[in-house]
Amino acid sequence: VQRSFVLLKPDAVRRGLVGSVLSRFEAKGLSIVALQLRQVDGELSDQHYAEHVERDFYPPLREFITSGPSIAMIVEGDEAIEVVRALNGATDGRKAAPGTIRGDLSLSNRENLVHGSDSPESAAREIALWFPEHS
Ligand code: ATP
Repeated sequence: VQRSFVLLKPDAVRRGLVGSVLSRFEAKGLSIVALQLRQVDGELSDQHYAEHVERDFYPPLREFITSGPSIAMIVEGDEAIEVVRALNGATDGRKAAPGTIRGDLSLSNRENLVHGSDSPESAAREIALWFPEHS
């Protein structure tokens, strides 16, 4: 089994889609092993998105991710990292395939509802950052 860090971004909470998105992970067979409602501040955003802080798209992304509460969680299951990314779909909701979370529920490249770790190294880093008690 593998663990992935998943963030339901402020648009998911604002739009009342937490239950719908969570149920897709549960229905797939992933287990939720930690979950927390979290208001992200600028410092946590900078740490989480360390690889993007110099990018042009980062300032509005930081504004967005700190704009309201998010749901942070650890999910666990066989190949959880790849499975979560497949369920999430492509980054840009306008291009993501129907059937995926972003493809079905997002029409935006920034407000794309969900984040999932992209590798075992990222998952370990993100779990240590968001849930130090679980790392
Ligand atoms: P995530 O890391 O959130 O799972 P991802 O791995 O699909 O998404 P990344 O390339 O790591 O995408 O980008 C991180 C986040 O930054 C995206 O989820 C999106 O919210 C935002 N983002 C990425 N590229 C752009 C862009 N060109 N314009 C606006 N926002 C962007």
